[in-house]
Amino acid sequence: VSSIQDLRTPALVLDRGVLARNLESMARRLQGLGVALRPHMKTAKCAEIAALAVRGQPGGITVSTLKEAAYFAGGGFRDITYAVGISPDKLDEVASLRRQDVELRILVDDAGVAREVAARGRRLGTTFPTLIEVDTGAHRGGVDPEGPELLEIARVLGGKGGARLDGVLTHAGHAYACRSVEEIRSVATEERAGVVRAAERLGCLGLDCPTVSAGSTPTAVHAPALDGVTEMRPGNYMFFDLFQEGLGTCRREDIAISVLATVIGHCPRHRRILIDAGALALSLDTSACRFSEDIGYGVVVDASGAEVVPGLHVARVHQEHGFVEAREPLPFHRLPIGSRVRILPGHACITAAMFDRYHVTEDGERVVDTWSRVSGW
Ligand code: PLP
Repeated sequence: VSSIQDLRTPALVLDRGVLARNLESMARRLQGLGVALRPHMKTAKCAEIAALAVRGQPGGITVSTLKEAAYFAGGGFRDITYAVGISPDKLDEVASLRRQDVELRILVDDAGVAREVAARGRRLGTTFPTLIEVDTGAHRGGVDPEGPELLEIARVLGGKGGARLDGVLTHAGHAYACRSVEEIRSVATEERAGVVRAAERLGCLGLDCPTVSAGSTPTAVHAPALDGVTEMRPGNYMFFDLFQEGLGTCRREDIAISVLATVIGHCPRHRRILIDAGALALSLDTSACRFSEDIGYGVVVDASGAEVVPGLHVARVHQEHGFVEAREPLPFHRLPIGSRVRILPGHACITAAMFDRYHVTEDGERVVDTWSRVSGW
């Protein structure tokens, strides 16, 4: 296949030029703030993209599953943070990656689990490098940076071997609830203050805390300062999406992926066009609708990426059907059956997860490469 017109649809298309620009701009921004970038590969899940994302950086990455950890370890990445709280049943798999010389860091926010991590490490003759998760306002995982649990976990990890305290980690997921860039800045300030405070408390106990890890895409883009933070872990910034555009974190032209689909039907009576991209291609994530009613399951543009009519979007989905609608009369003549459209994703991480590969383009027309993705757990 050399042209996107020849791709079997639905297909996930990645614009390499836009990707490169997004990577470069985040790297430059964090460099200006004196912080390393440990890109989160949960969005891209692709070795080629990881290699581009760590250029000019120390080389560490973040993952969201052990399957990703094994995949990236196989691709030569040796410094990996698994940034989802560990459960003891996963430790054997972590230990097996450790034996392959992978510096795989795990995350705990519970003293009982920390004890189990250390005990298992001793039993298996390994040392689990471990970060303590800190809650800086997202209220998902994490201990209170001011609370006693932080110190209790730190003492366990700093104890009799089997585990090693590597530092603290937080993720300001609540940045996604913000209504303005001002609000994102204040969440970023809270995120920084909380995680740095946790590190300082460990320092007061005389414990080493080399890693002070923070970051989401919105806080990485808008943080006014990152003093005391050693690394940021944005992931979505590689692709961006309509949600990030709504938040004020990117512009529409920064969105690097789209779903290529084919028009399969016209329904003038019901004022809709049918496409072959439904729930299994676009996902059911409509979170970006909070910014506009004209987003639905994704904004529809023509195959070249140009607007067809304002507000054209996928309003409903069935498993393999998308219902394209607009407030204005639909331009049926411009989108004949068999023609191609592109859907910009509301939430790129979830839409990309519907596919097993990227069709890479640079000019929006020629397919210059195919990159596979890792999926599953
Ligand atoms: N770190 C952790 C622990 C996360 O859970 C996530 C995303 O869910 C990120 C970093 C990356 O944030 P974003 O998706 O905003 O780029």
